[in-house]
Amino acid sequence: MRRHNLGTILTEVHRHGHRSRALLTAEMGLNRSTIGDLVAELTEAGLVLQRSASAQGRAGRPSLEVVPFPEGVYVLAVDLGVRHLAVARVGLGGDVLDRVDVEPERDWSDLDVTVEAIADTCDRLRRAAPSGARCVGVGLSVPGVVRHEDGLLRFAPNLGWTDVPFGARLGERLDLPAVIANDADLGALAEHWRGAAAGYEHVVVMSGEIGIGGGILVGGRPLRGRGGYAGEIGHLRVNPDGRLCRCGSTGCLETEVGADALLREAGRRPGSGMDAYRDVLAKAAAGERDCVAAAARVANWLGVGVGILVNTFNPDIVILAGPLGELYQATADTVAEAAAQSSLVAPREQVRLAASALGPDAQIVGAAELAFEPLLEDPIGTLSRHAA
Ligand SMILES: [Zn+2]
Repeated sequence: MRRHNLGTILTEVHRHGHRSRALLTAEMGLNRSTIGDLVAELTEAGLVLQRSASAQGRAGRPSLEVVPFPEGVYVLAVDLGVRHLAVARVGLGGDVLDRVDVEPERDWSDLDVTVEAIADTCDRLRRAAPSGARCVGVGLSVPGVVRHEDGLLRFAPNLGWTDVPFGARLGERLDLPAVIANDADLGALAEHWRGAAAGYEHVVVMSGEIGIGGGILVGGRPLRGRGGYAGEIGHLRVNPDGRLCRCGSTGCLETEVGADALLREAGRRPGSGMDAYRDVLAKAAAGERDCVAAAARVANWLGVGVGILVNTFNPDIVILAGPLGELYQATADTVAEAAAQSSLVAPREQVRLAASALGPDAQIVGAAELAFEPLLEDPIGTLSRHAA
């Protein structure tokens, strides 16, 4: 019971950044002295601090606020993509304290090279952390299917990896507990915990640079399917007259709305990168005719895809992330109109569309939350396991 209460207080402080003792007392239905006692134990453990809040409590007593101890504990969060690798140090409370983007635009398909690059960067971030700050774990976001029970990376098609104990290898190398999850699932959870989907339980996040993936939350939990393959929304066949997809089908959502689709529609070379992609969107915003038409065509197919997802999942919110988020911000009306035409009235009336609130940090935020989970469940026990 005590363990549960300590975990609840720490989770509240972590998620909200600060919590008054009065509010914790009211929320948890415990008396003031019990809350005081629990907070004292978390303070003693170096996890939180108490400070007087600016607002005065009842009877003129200054109310005490509980905040994360900034130099107390942190986790390492890794966002591995096909062509990007970022490692960050994230503090209790969710602040990204330090972040390294390792050799942008490099190909990360060599497993040994990748594990070493991640481990070296983690070591560097740990050395740069304030002395006394404790690292309680590492969270990894990967572009592949992860077996939930033991974290085995089953299949990462765009990296060419099959059945790799990626998390375990890195955990051993760093001597830290390592947890690993699919990038789309983590993106959706991150938006749910700290982003545009905060407060919503039924969420679809569409994202992706090269391929298009979906992170789907049903009742606040990731929808994974039998083998972890659920959410492959990039291969919804939206345009039977469309281009050949790398999956063998034609006119998949991915071929119609991926970054290359916009480049191709605007007469640019596919594969010419995000700078070229943003240039097309900027020129569309400035009214350049070819770019306006290209953005509108791609936005239309994006809306068709959104409509299918709205009919299938009846979500509270559909979030467009990454390049799709940038496209959405430039073409919101076109996307909304196409989505409306391809969805039923009832679920359409219940859904909001939004661009990601976390941007390129979504996977880092999600991976950090994953790594914090054991501490939030059992703060004192987790710390003592680390000391041992
Ligand atoms: Zn396909």
